[in-house]
Amino acid sequence: MSTILEPEQIQGSSIALPFLHLPPADVFALRAARLELLAEGHPLADYLRLIAGLCHVQHDLLQQPPSRHSLDPQRLRLCQEHGLPPLAADSLVRDEGWQPYLDALLMRYQAPAQQPVQNAIATLHNANAGQRKAWAIALLSGQFAAVPVALVPFLGAALQAAWTHWLLSIPTHDLKPGDSLSQCPACGSPAMAGVIRHRGKYNGLRYLVCSLCACEWHAVRVKCIYCELSKGLKYVSVDDDRHAVEHAPLRAEVCPNCNSYLKLLYLEDDAEAEALSADLTSLMLDMRLDIEGYQRLAPNLLLAPGGE
Ligand code: FE
Ligand code: FE
Repeated sequence: MSTILEPEQIQGSSIALPFLHLPPADVFALRAARLELLAEGHPLADYLRLIAGLCHVQHDLLQQPPSRHSLDPQRLRLCQEHGLPPLAADSLVRDEGWQPYLDALLMRYQAPAQQPVQNAIATLHNANAGQRKAWAIALLSGQFAAVPVALVPFLGAALQAAWTHWLLSIPTHDLKPGDSLSQCPACGSPAMAGVIRHRGKYNGLRYLVCSLCACEWHAVRVKCIYCELSKGLKYVSVDDDRHAVEHAPLRAEVCPNCNSYLKLLYLEDDAEAEALSADLTSLMLDMRLDIEGYQRLAPNLLLAPGGE
């Protein structure tokens, strides 16, 4: 019996793997471009273009942050000393620091004329800071049902822009792994998807992409990121995919042990692919796995589950 070694195993522990892969400064512009491309002929084209519009605003927010609010250096240092996520979402969401991002997003976004979009913007615009905070806490803790569906993409986009800004501006990225494989070492949020990288020192390694701050962290392949078992894992791609599953750029790693799955993006099979856009354009795969009884634990903050 032959054993297939993963790149991580071949390289051994003597070579330090890069634990983090930071998002580029144009991560949101890349997402927007990719969504616009994939929207062509897609059944959810209108929704994908709306999200692309939000990603353009996110890019603008990253280029021109609306707030001079910077994170408390003392707090950052304490987190560093104790190996805690320096941008812990569950506590920072309770501060006011992200709210200017929502105000600026609502101001800078050129909303299409559709009434539901206009209503969502007006609702967020008129909500006070306490209400916004309550919705944001619910969204970031996975309580999607407590947030009106139409508000999710706008709220999620503002939160992502704030956290990615903070991620790219903290003084050190010497971060420790979270308590669970699925947890972002920078902000503690759950992974949205995984990416199998294909270039340079990252070649063949799996990185998990944070649903909030877009930080990527290394996680060994062929292991369920939720229950950490490898036995029985299977890989599935969408039915109408042009590729055989072993060459499909997007595959779900399905775990029969904990009944959950995670989408993985193989850059070797599509070098231009990007996690958030790949996730939003492959909801057929989620529907299929849902019917088969598997649960999705990876949030996408621009989409309420069951909403669209
Ligand atoms: Fe994060
Ligand atoms: Fe599992």
